[in-house]
Amino acid sequence: MEVRSVQATAKGPADWFSGDVWIDGIARGEEPSRIRISAVHFTPSARTAWHAHAVGQTLYVTEGRGLIQSRGGEIVEIRPGDIIHAQADEWHWHGAAPDQFMTHLSVTEAVAPGDTRPDVNWGELVTDAEYGGR
Ligand code: MN
Repeated sequence: MEVRSVQATAKGPADWFSGDVWIDGIARGEEPSRIRISAVHFTPSARTAWHAHAVGQTLYVTEGRGLIQSRGGEIVEIRPGDIIHAQADEWHWHGAAPDQFMTHLSVTEAVAPGDTRPDVNWGELVTDAEYGGR
């Protein structure tokens, strides 16, 4: 067993996020575990770019109010306690509401050894029109 102190919060890269997003790494499994857990803090209106996870993703909203959209679907409001599952290779984005912060836990897995795909396939940033549902 190991107790680790808090590590430095990392700024979400501008290629992958619009607005200010901060990421705290929580778990990074060592083989054979491939789990990845992080707490992701979105400032109001900040959001991910369009992306898809090779092995899917589960989100657990812990604070604030947010929005999520699957490609071709409606924008859905998310609140603390909500659990959202994105299927493998399902294109989507997630972020804070325009006037609220939002924090969620992100649970993903790295691809299996020998699988050359990236863990996350990143696409275009979500435009203001897309974010506004237009
Ligand atoms: Mn995602």
